[in-house]
Amino acid sequence: MSAKLKIAVQKSGRLHDDSMKLLKECGIDVNNGVNRLKTEASNFPLELFFLRDDDIPQYVEDGVADIGMVGENVVFEKEKQVKIVEKLGFGKCRLSIAVPKNVEYNGINDLHNMRIATSYPVIVADYLKKHKVQAEIHEISGSVEIAPGIGLADAICDLVSSGSTLFMNGLKEVEVMLKSEAVLVANKDLTAAQQQLLDKLLFRMRAVRKAKN
Ligand code: ATP
Ligand code: ZN
Repeated sequence: MSAKLKIAVQKSGRLHDDSMKLLKECGIDVNNGVNRLKTEASNFPLELFFLRDDDIPQYVEDGVADIGMVGENVVFEKEKQVKIVEKLGFGKCRLSIAVPKNVEYNGINDLHNMRIATSYPVIVADYLKKHKVQAEIHEISGSVEIAPGIGLADAICDLVSSGSTLFMNGLKEVEVMLKSEAVLVANKDLTAAQQQLLDKLLFRMRAVRKAKN
């Protein structure tokens, strides 16, 4: 049997279209099968799995998928054993702390004893520890930006790109914890044949990006 690579791609959401576009620009034809769990490329030994982004690091660590396209923010939060092989240049955002705009903020020590709502408890805990700040982390899974307004938290940590969501919710960005973009991750134990396919794919991805610069 000849080697094949299985790639995990976000099923729908902010990374989906750019992920599919990148594959297409690499000359890989995929018969649009987004409504299915998986599909195959017709001209490259590549099988695609469409998944929630949060699940991608786990699937790649387990080898259910060999490689995946996912935000660095998710890779760092999930702490899975995967290799980051390439930055992909899309899905750019930052993971930031924000407080209500009328709250005075002079520096990270002002977060002391605050309740911080976030979907990124691991990254926030790391950041607070690094800066020796003691605060309470409230993990919530969505609509983090409304937490201060309903009295659930004093601050939030969430993904920001333009800042308009923060603004609309009366919040101001006060700390940037992480600058993130989509990356290609790989399983740590690829076979030599799979590594060769990955190298071929990487070569094409780099050519595509070079052509754009
Ligand atoms: P899923 O249904 O797959 O779990 P999701 O709702 O968790 O999707 P999306 O909102 O689609 O995730 O975001 C996917 C990724 O896009 C983020 O993890 C991040 O890497 C990137 N991203 C870029 N800009 C933003 C932004 N402004 N807000 C949120 N995510 C962003
Ligand atoms: Zn998600």
